Amino acid sequence: MRGKHREIQEKIFDFFNSSPDLQTPTEISMKEHRELCLRQLLGLVREGKIKPFRYVVEDPAKYFAISEAVGSIDISLGIKFGVQYSLWGGSVLNLGTKKHRDKYFDGIDNLDYLGCFAMTELHHGSNVQGLQTVATFDPITDEFIIDTPNDGAIKWWIGNAAVHGKFATVFARLVLPTHDSKGVSDMGVHAFIVPIRDLKTHQPLPGIEINDCGHKIGLNGVDNGALRFRSVRIPRDNLLNRFGDVTRDGKYTSSLPTINKRFAATLGELVGGRVGLAHSSVGILKIAVTIAVRYSLLRQQFGPPKQPEVSILDYQSQQHKLMPMLASTYAFHFATQYLVEKYSEMKKTHDEQLVGDVHALSAGLKSYVTSFTAKSLSTCREACGGHGYAAVNRFGTLRNDHDIFQTFEGDNTVLLQQV
Ligand SMILES: Cc1cc2nc3c(=O)[nH]c(=O)nc-3n(C[C@H](O)[C@H](O)[C@H](O)COP(=O)(O)OP(=O)(O)OC[C@H]3O[C@@H](n4cnc5c(N)ncnc54)[C@H](O)[C@@H]3O)c2cc1C
Repeated sequence: MRGKHREIQEKIFDFFNSSPDLQTPTEISMKEHRELCLRQLLGLVREGKIKPFRYVVEDPAKYFAISEAVGSIDISLGIKFGVQYSLWGGSVLNLGTKKHRDKYFDGIDNLDYLGCFAMTELHHGSNVQGLQTVATFDPITDEFIIDTPNDGAIKWWIGNAAVHGKFATVFARLVLPTHDSKGVSDMGVHAFIVPIRDLKTHQPLPGIEINDCGHKIGLNGVDNGALRFRSVRIPRDNLLNRFGDVTRDGKYTSSLPTINKRFAATLGELVGGRVGLAHSSVGILKIAVTIAVRYSLLRQQFGPPKQPEVSILDYQSQQHKLMPMLASTYAFHFATQYLVEKYSEMKKTHDEQLVGDVHALSAGLKSYVTSFTAKSLSTCREACGGHGYAAVNRFGTLRNDHDIFQTFEGDNTVLLQQV
């Protein structure tokens, strides 16, 4: 089932199998887990020579295959990997233009530029159009000034922000000064590259306040943080300007006619994260079903008098728990492969019909698959009895780490309304 990406996935497994110091122990503090996760990522890229960034655009199927293998080592690592390459890196490639690619590609690729994707705010998660962070253009200095206008607008849950990130793609309302009675014009939500820590000293830059979102139910290898901006000045060039730009004299230009069209185009470019999450969720389901089915074959309980005990998989109730789940895992594997194919085609052709199809398919599959996996993880644990509860057998971390897949990259209930 690994298809043409077997080789690169095997390379990743071999790298971690031969690096015992990079394996996540069952007992680990949040602080140690975050540092281990960073070492795992650096090891993979710098020693393991896995360079996934170019595949984000050139060969998404290969990128998602790498991501699946990385996530099977530790889901925290898979998410940190996704924040770096798909969210922070992907926003630079997909929402920016050549100048951004030229300036940031190598640093993102080799992890010198660890970064964040800062969309969610304390008061606005699903409702992205309600974001309140502002980026006001200053025509005198040719800069944008990034501000957090109130506590509700603090960027919240931002992966890589609490400890490791150097940059963030910050989603903010672009505000231009005007010469009419209103004085300003709100052009809607745009994305900006904002350096958040000094590249040498790693200290937060002036005007940037960083806090830690703390211990979570799962994914504690990822350092989620909160970002507040106080008159942070960035060059005009840091606007990711693929869908809308500002000229030196403060005029707004775009090939798209309305704020809504620009917003849809911006969010449409971010659909890759959702495709990746559906794909990774199936990867986690594969692990859980494999553990549960194998164990059920070997585990024996009860049997005819004076005969050996029978395998628990011979009980119909156990089959009812696991066999439809196994069949669904195959179905989801092929469904997400199809989604990845359509997504790759869409990235090449930008065909409008395909953009709509991929949006609906990714929203539906992401919510259906992640809900199914979340429920199945509990069923698999139960199917393995008491031994399923031992931390070393992984169901606890799989279940806790995966749970949030139902919420991020689009809350499942909200996404299903878009299908
Ligand atoms: C561990 C973690 C990592 C994250 N990483 C990042 C990151 O790196 N960058 C980033 O920008 N964000 C990140 N997020 C934020 C994440 O994307 C949001 O949590 C998510 O978008 C949901 O938003 P919310 O939490 O505000 O929930 P809400 O939108 O407040 O939803 C709460 C509940 O209300 C329901 N609801 C909301 N709207 C509707 C509606 N229209 N109809 C029916 N029901 C509705 C939802 O179904 C849900 O049950 C992360 C979150 C977590 C927990």
